[in-house]
Amino acid sequence: MGRPYCLQFAAASIASLLSLAACGPAIDGAVADDSTAMAAGEAELYYDEYVLWWSRASGETPITVCWESPGFAREKELVREAVNRTWGFYGYFDFKEWTDCTSDYSAIRIKISDEQPHTKGLGTHIQDVSNGMVLNFTFVHWSDSCQDSLDSCIRSIAVHEFGHALGFAHEQNRPDTPPSCDDTQGSNGTATVGAWDLSSVMNYCNPEWSNGGQLSTTDIMGVGTVYHVGPSYLAAIAVTTAL
Ligand SMILES: [Zn+2]
Repeated sequence: MGRPYCLQFAAASIASLLSLAACGPAIDGAVADDSTAMAAGEAELYYDEYVLWWSRASGETPITVCWESPGFAREKELVREAVNRTWGFYGYFDFKEWTDCTSDYSAIRIKISDEQPHTKGLGTHIQDVSNGMVLNFTFVHWSDSCQDSLDSCIRSIAVHEFGHALGFAHEQNRPDTPPSCDDTQGSNGTATVGAWDLSSVMNYCNPEWSNGGQLSTTDIMGVGTVYHVGPSYLAAIAVTTAL
């Protein structure tokens, strides 16, 4: 059993906040069909194919999210917004509920705690697992420099940890990781898509910590390959290509 899937803190400053503009189409409109548009080498991700939340035939993937911890309404909203603007925008997910956990939920259950953020596994391995994901909103005992960029840290970490929750392992664990990136952490995936990506939000060797909380171009292509491409993203591409 590997260690928990954690987001280590690098001393780098946290980059720009997420914005819808920044989440707009960054690629050239080639994504018309999520199953065929991924040319070899264009997309990356390292994932566990046995813990995905979806049935490909069903299209949209509903995923219930709930909070184990009370309070922090503003910070919780930052997380919800960041996840919906990244994975939820480019992939065909319906992250729903975002309310207090009950015993009835089959969900991603999030605990808020001042410790290193992590998930207890990849993908559906954390489904309905108590405290299956841990997020830090205060940063007193872990990465206190985040107090100078609190919202950015909360967003960036949420995007990384939700990557794990969707079944994505650390990019630097891939077998084709170059020797210059020696930072293996957590357990491995079972499959890869495309070439190794330094810019991935899942790559510790990315010189921009957690890629500033934004999916790289190849993260976007990868999530569209593993899951379905989100209809909002397809609509944005259609508008762009029509201009
Ligand atoms: Zn991680």
